[in-house]
Amino acid sequence: MNGEYTTFSESETAALGEKIAAELSEGDIVAFIGNLGAGKTTMIKAIASALGADERETASPSFALVHDYGPIRRESKEDVGRIFHIDLYRLEPGEIEQLGLWEILDEDNICFVEWADKYPEIIPRGAVRIDITRTGEDVRTIIIKDWNSDEH
Ligand code: ADP
Ligand code: MG
Repeated sequence: MNGEYTTFSESETAALGEKIAAELSEGDIVAFIGNLGAGKTTMIKAIASALGADERETASPSFALVHDYGPIRRESKEDVGRIFHIDLYRLEPGEIEQLGLWEILDEDNICFVEWADKYPEIIPRGAVRIDITRTGEDVRTIIIKDWNSDEH
């Protein structure tokens, strides 16, 4: 899964998200870095949908810091974990405690963290890092690597 990818449309980014979903397993944390409009939410929704997220949950606009997309659903096995999406964009330092990270970053769950560079200290070692950069109107460079592979 690690590597550099280029997508030329929103749907190509979503398709890449589906491939990433197939590589993820329970306990994985995926940390996203990229400016506003890069495509972080687009990719997270595609991955979450491929993991069986409730479409109504991913579609609903919400100002909550933590989105619960429901149980992981796969044909191959019975899953007990849930899909979470944390958005750190509006999080104030004093609110980190309120996230309930210990419960969310459980070994059964799969968790996406948007704006991970805002509070890199809360991203556990072993997380996957996805950097998305807008390199043209509809062009995005997407780099997938290990979170702790270099400095932030
Ligand atoms: P973020 O969460 O990073 O702020 P969003 O996913 O909400 O970004 O928005 C990305 C925007 O960029 C959407 O309006 C989408 O249609 C547009 N877009 C254009 N090209 C692409 C691409 N190749 N990949 C992802 N999004 C794209
Ligand atoms: Mg977003």
